[in-house]
Amino acid sequence: MDLNDRRDHLAFREEVQRFLRDYKDQAPTESAHTYRLLPRPYSEKVKNWQRLLVERGYAARNVPKAYGGVGAEPDILKNRIIADEFFAAGMPQGLYGQGISMLVPTLLEHGTEDQKLEWIGPTIRGEIMWCQGYSEPNSGSDLASLQTSAAEDGDDFIINGSKIWTSSAHIAPMIFALIRTEPDASKYQGISYMIFPMDLPGIDVRPLQTMTGHPSFNEVFFTDVRVPKTQVVGGRGNGWKVANSTLAHERGMLSNANGSQERLNKIRDLLQKETRDGRLLAENQVLMDRYIGLQARVQSMRLHEMRLLTNAEEGKPPGLQEMICKLVGCELNNQLDALAIDALGEIGVLYDGIPSVEEDGIWQQWYMYDLGLIIGGGTAQIQKNIIAERGLGMPREPRAGKG
Ligand SMILES: Cc1cc2nc3c(=O)[nH]c(=O)nc-3n(C[C@H](O)[C@H](O)[C@H](O)COP(=O)(O)OP(=O)(O)OC[C@H]3O[C@@H](n4cnc5c(N)ncnc54)[C@H](O)[C@@H]3O)c2cc1C
Repeated sequence: MDLNDRRDHLAFREEVQRFLRDYKDQAPTESAHTYRLLPRPYSEKVKNWQRLLVERGYAARNVPKAYGGVGAEPDILKNRIIADEFFAAGMPQGLYGQGISMLVPTLLEHGTEDQKLEWIGPTIRGEIMWCQGYSEPNSGSDLASLQTSAAEDGDDFIINGSKIWTSSAHIAPMIFALIRTEPDASKYQGISYMIFPMDLPGIDVRPLQTMTGHPSFNEVFFTDVRVPKTQVVGGRGNGWKVANSTLAHERGMLSNANGSQERLNKIRDLLQKETRDGRLLAENQVLMDRYIGLQARVQSMRLHEMRLLTNAEEGKPPGLQEMICKLVGCELNNQLDALAIDALGEIGVLYDGIPSVEEDGIWQQWYMYDLGLIIGGGTAQIQKNIIAERGLGMPREPRAGKG
């Protein structure tokens, strides 16, 4: 891959840099990253920044203008330039999350015109938050076994059942959920993908405490919840296909080399600044050995992303390579957090309100959060099965109930 910018890309890079210099004062201190750690409605400053980024063409680039986006020609290298320049300037990029990164591309692919017009604009501007109702108490890795069902009543469906681990359900006004609507169809054919408000009568949300100590996910119970049939995305009984399109976007959202590099840079600063027994942490060979090992892995993540870019430029589909980013990236982030905690010694294991560390207890919280991401969006074991079987052509593991 030629790493030099083409002439038009060089001009675009300079334009992004100019924007970042000119609008520095308007950037919020919180990023989408901090909202993931502690889910809460976006502040006005964050929403204004998001609106500015969309207006200037630095967020929602590939969303058509008719739905409130930039309507730019797909140019994966320009997207990369934006990501890298914002990262280098330490400025928050466009928002991402279950609505913007997962539902919006799904609606673009499978939604009706009315659904696109109603939901995409407010979602990309950060005005509506969404939660994802997939997992159920007995259906996680084997998602297609889900039991929450809907019975028909005229133009509506009446939903009964429950979801679990629903991130942000306690603050999100909207949900996209998988519901069994065709009781006589096979496991995969009987599911519909529906979008509806969370304040409908019959929806009960009970927050669950996560390992981070914050209530970031929930149990959601549905008792006779009435939803119009027009709220189905992608057609009745096609929910499995639509859900998989959303899941592919989720995997792409959960980790990237810049996110790992950010952690690595913070650890570098920590090692160069903090002391233990009167000696700089950077002089501790055990910590430095771990640091250098992880630095090499962050670099290999970046090179893997370059490979994905090259493939995309050549029009090749990403195949399972994005899944590798999720699998490797989430584990890598967790190991980076662990190094920071070990470097901080006994302070590292403390949580909130520690005066001696710049960002209160942040490493413990990230450690717990990143540990959760190794499970969320499909566990590491399931990702490994898929990569081995579909990517490397290894023998399939025996499936229960198939002899
Ligand atoms: C932080 C976080 C946020 C989440 N947010 C959401 C959300 O917003 N919406 C939502 O719907 N869900 C969410 N989830 C749920 C997540 O998708 C599930 O936890 C995940 O799919 C695993 O399902 P499970 O918990 O039922 O575990 P199980 O499927 O019961 O798995 C238990 C263990 O068995 C292993 N296992 C299962 N099957 C196999 C197999 N065939 N081969 C090898 N090992 C196997 C798994 O890897 C795992 O270690 C979230 C989870 C976390 C941790």
